[in-house]
Amino acid sequence: MKKDIDDFVVIGSGFGGSIPAQKLVKAGYSVTLLERGPWRNSLPVKSMGISDRASYPHGWKLYSHVLRTFHAGYMPKKGMTVNKYGLFEAFHHKGLITACTSGVGGGSHAYSGLHQRATVPNFWDGYAEGLSDETMERHYVEVMEKFASRKKTPEDKVPNTTAELFADSELFTDKNNHDEPANGIQFPETPGQPKIVNTEAGVQRWESSYDDDSFLGSPSGAKSSLDFIYLAEAIKDGLVVKDLCQVTSINRIENGEGTLYCVKVMDLANSIEREFYSRKVILAAGALNTNKLLFHSRDVAKGLSGMPQLGKNIGTNGDHGGYWALQDEGKDYSKGLPIHGPIGIKGEEDTYTIACGIPGLQHVPLPASIKTKLSEGVILAGMGQDACDGVASYKQGRLSIDYDASNSKIFDDINRCMDIAEQKSAKKIYRLPINFTVHTCGGAHLGSSIESGVINAEGEVFDNPGLYVTDGAALPASPGGPPSMPIAAWASHVAEGIISRGEAGKR
Ligand SMILES: Cc1cc2nc3c(=O)[nH]c(=O)nc-3n(C[C@H](O)[C@H](O)[C@H](O)COP(=O)(O)OP(=O)(O)OC[C@H]3O[C@@H](n4cnc5c(N)ncnc54)[C@H](O)[C@@H]3O)c2cc1C
Repeated sequence: MKKDIDDFVVIGSGFGGSIPAQKLVKAGYSVTLLERGPWRNSLPVKSMGISDRASYPHGWKLYSHVLRTFHAGYMPKKGMTVNKYGLFEAFHHKGLITACTSGVGGGSHAYSGLHQRATVPNFWDGYAEGLSDETMERHYVEVMEKFASRKKTPEDKVPNTTAELFADSELFTDKNNHDEPANGIQFPETPGQPKIVNTEAGVQRWESSYDDDSFLGSPSGAKSSLDFIYLAEAIKDGLVVKDLCQVTSINRIENGEGTLYCVKVMDLANSIEREFYSRKVILAAGALNTNKLLFHSRDVAKGLSGMPQLGKNIGTNGDHGGYWALQDEGKDYSKGLPIHGPIGIKGEEDTYTIACGIPGLQHVPLPASIKTKLSEGVILAGMGQDACDGVASYKQGRLSIDYDASNSKIFDDINRCMDIAEQKSAKKIYRLPINFTVHTCGGAHLGSSIESGVINAEGEVFDNPGLYVTDGAALPASPGGPPSMPIAAWASHVAEGIISRGEAGKR
């Protein structure tokens, strides 16, 4: 039987996957996007005419839909899948917990909507000729324009901004030494009176009510997610999105007509195995699952070979946080944007720390007294460039990361800031007892040669032509600030390179 062969198969629909998928179909290529998670039940997705939508972990669904899969060394090697419709996947490694998301739109459902270039200066410089902060700039600009992201202003009347909280403070400031990030949020035209608006692609979304645009998802669509910002338009251009399709391996086939890839999939809706064929594969399953898929495809399925640097240079972006029990009676810090803004200690503004409430907390099924108590404080999240020296390995079907936080000065810096904040405010910061990151990067990283990286400046795996990596795994180092825009810019750069070189046959 003759196989259907796509020009491109894209694996994963987060920042690394949705952006190339949209660009490649727009350029006239046939593209199938494989995503293991479901479409989410938001106003935009409903208005796109998608009928099978899974709940966010909201209301009582918090308990059934928050966790997809949990992995740990003491568990079965496939981990424990609680609910295939769950939002988060977590991995417990030695001394480190890493988490990522699942669903059409990937991490854009969980993210706080902070849009920012890498905060590390000259982040893209020095890896390969022709690649630099300067050449990446137009990709940042284009993606942020597509998201219509912008900084909040006093006219937006956003509650609980750090600018407002610290306006009269002698101790704290909303200015640290980093530029304030923009927000991927639909700000209300008239503050306090959110209404439904239409996007250019004809999708409906609510303006933000500054209440529920949470890391548990934004059913109103006020927080910008990739499913409707990128994929709505791409579907109209011919993109085929297969949700609940979990890729199990990538297999390279060399025949007389050149390289072909067979992507094996478990169709989670019907529990059947399927195969997709394409000349080119864009791998964007998120840093953790991209590493896992590459290891599995090489070491177990024997579908790929080489990649001597695979699993190296894993970073956590210096993520370290805690809950600052401000106990400001009568305050409700759960209101506002997902992130209230940057926070610096006067005279000590170097470390990137942000404060956020717990948006949507009031809708969580917990006793009112607990919700009130929690909403009187904020979460502090510090980040910055770490040593990026973690090593991922894959043994007996299990991905584990060896990461020694004591190699990275950033954690001392953040802890010092938290110590000062605690002393100056006389309010306790309850820190996480274990390193925890939602910003894993590296492992299939950019390098100047096969001795220093897995992919080249075009995003192509050095020794597996036609296979590209465009997600967080591709980053050469931790970006220091929120990583979605560096990943998005990289994905845009790779897709445009493919299009401009005219690779693969068009329809
Ligand atoms: C709570 C939270 C808050 C955050 N806040 C911010 C923020 O404000 N700003 C910011 O810049 N970043 C933020 N981030 C980080 C940001 O979400 C990630 O850096 C970003 O989503 C990574 O993009 P990606 O394309 O690498 O992977 P993802 O967005 O994770 O996408 C990967 C996709 O691949 C799918 N997938 C995985 N395995 C398979 C498989 N085998 N087959 C098929 N599909 C598969 C996954 O389901 C997922 O949809 C936050 C993250 C979290 C969790």
